[in-house]
Amino acid sequence: MKTNNRLIVITGASSGFGLEMAKEFANDGYSLLLLARRVEKMEALQLPNTMCRKVDVTNKEEFEVAVREAELEYGKTDLIVNNAGMMLLGDIATQDAKEWKTMLDVNVMGVMNGMQIVMNDMKDRKSGTIINVSSIAGVQAFGNHAAYCASKFGVTGLTRVARGEMAAHNVRVLSIMPGAVNTELLGHTTDPNIIEGYNNWKESVGAVNITANDVAKTIKYAYQLPQSVSLREIIITDTMQDA
Ligand code: NDP
Repeated sequence: MKTNNRLIVITGASSGFGLEMAKEFANDGYSLLLLARRVEKMEALQLPNTMCRKVDVTNKEEFEVAVREAELEYGKTDLIVNNAGMMLLGDIATQDAKEWKTMLDVNVMGVMNGMQIVMNDMKDRKSGTIINVSSIAGVQAFGNHAAYCASKFGVTGLTRVARGEMAAHNVRVLSIMPGAVNTELLGHTTDPNIIEGYNNWKESVGAVNITANDVAKTIKYAYQLPQSVSLREIIITDTMQDA
């Protein structure tokens, strides 16, 4: 087993991209802090040098307590991947506003909470990496994605601003914008017709062979480049995705 004493914080590590990242980074021997609400899913991975904490990223206080606890054990955070997110697709004309708020809170406020918790230490140390998981829906419009697009365009925008602000401090701030990948994400949507339409679209474009592990490996690649190399924005989709 390789060892690597740098601490990596991953939000939304109980499924999908986050869970695959946890396994990938653990394989390379990093110390990990895994955060999500379903703590048992992260504990079940039984990864070495790993702390798992039940944290809702919209609660900045509990988020910060977990990060400081892990930093006491493993040292300062070298990478945070702000990955936790919700996708509740809906028609803006009829969708319950509570769903919009949930997405904006988790996808935007959750990311900003994560950034603020680590960025001042990174500035002081003149090193560190923040990777925010946006989406291709953070640069392009898709039907029934109004609030999701609002949240992910938000992530794209705030990441660009932070990248500029952190550049002089030698801190990398990147965003990754995946296209459709099969995870639990679509299961959050409450309208069965929209779920059916999304699945029909996936079939119509051919196939979704890209996996959550492909996305995790890409994030790891961007991180493992030298600190002087900033892969600012990565759009990653299945080759057969046409939009
Ligand atoms: P999953 O639904 O599989 O994973 C989402 C993760 O976020 C889960 O671990 C969930 O854990 C966590 N999460 C949700 N809400 C909160 C919260 N309030 N506090 C803490 N953790 C939370 O989806 P993906 O892996 O696909 O999604 C990961 C990210 O990638 C999201 O930001 C998503 O928008 C983005 N993305 C996904 C794409 C896809 O096609 N799959 C495409 C583009 C972007 P728990 O419920 O246990 O809290």
